[in-house]
Amino acid sequence: GSSLRTGGHFSRVADIIVAAPPPRAVIASAMSGVTDDLARAVEAAAQRDPGYREIVAALQSRHVDVVREIIPAAAAVTLIEKIERDVEDLNEVLRAAWILRDGSRGTYDMVMGQGEIWAAEILAAILTARGLAASAMDAREVLVVEPSRSRAAPTVDWKRSREQLAAWSAAHPASDVLVVTGFVAATADGVPATLGRNGSDYSASIFAALLDAQEIHIWSDVDGVMSADPRLVSDAVVLESLSYQEASELAYFGAKLT
Ligand code: ASP
Ligand code: MG
Repeated sequence: GSSLRTGGHFSRVADIIVAAPPPRAVIASAMSGVTDDLARAVEAAAQRDPGYREIVAALQSRHVDVVREIIPAAAAVTLIEKIERDVEDLNEVLRAAWILRDGSRGTYDMVMGQGEIWAAEILAAILTARGLAASAMDAREVLVVEPSRSRAAPTVDWKRSREQLAAWSAAHPASDVLVVTGFVAATADGVPATLGRNGSDYSASIFAALLDAQEIHIWSDVDGVMSADPRLVSDAVVLESLSYQEASELAYFGAKLT
């Protein structure tokens, strides 16, 4: 997400992907801040705050502006039309949430996953413009999960996910790079689900397994690893160096990359 804040960020990410040796697959998170905005839209609609429409309109312009900035005109038109159709769907779901005063998990899961769909489509379009055969995959068509009743991450149905991946691959031409939506999945009945906040790293691990990847690289646009959480410790500094042992200890204790 932090690596996809602006159009310039998408271009830099595209440079990195173009330079990486194939075969490669990329898991895209939503542009920074987008998932929070989508969650706020559901909350507002369910509380009958008409402000949800402005939140959605602002998200629409933010994505359309990026598309206009970095995607060549012909492809941009198609993508902008797709974004407009998605916005219509979002507004219908949010309108239903308004009528029903419904801020249920199903509504959140459907709406909050939209950021990843747009990010993956924009990334695939810019990679195509760079001359790669790139396909965007909506993970809701492939990844099957069973949502947990607690706040824990959902469990993956590996067998069905493998089957759906095979079916998806058969239906799509081979590509130089696969751009997959992070964070989102679907239940066995096809109902949109998510992997929980910051779930795109989890998506990357799952798809690495599904695609038999040899390595996973997780990118974040940050200055480095800090000595402490700067939101809690005002004199936290970026560390000069970190041993593998220290990094793995930090990871074990759940250090957050944002
Ligand atoms: N976009 C989702 C979130 O903000 C997933 C992720 O960023 O990993 O939680
Ligand atoms: Mg993120």
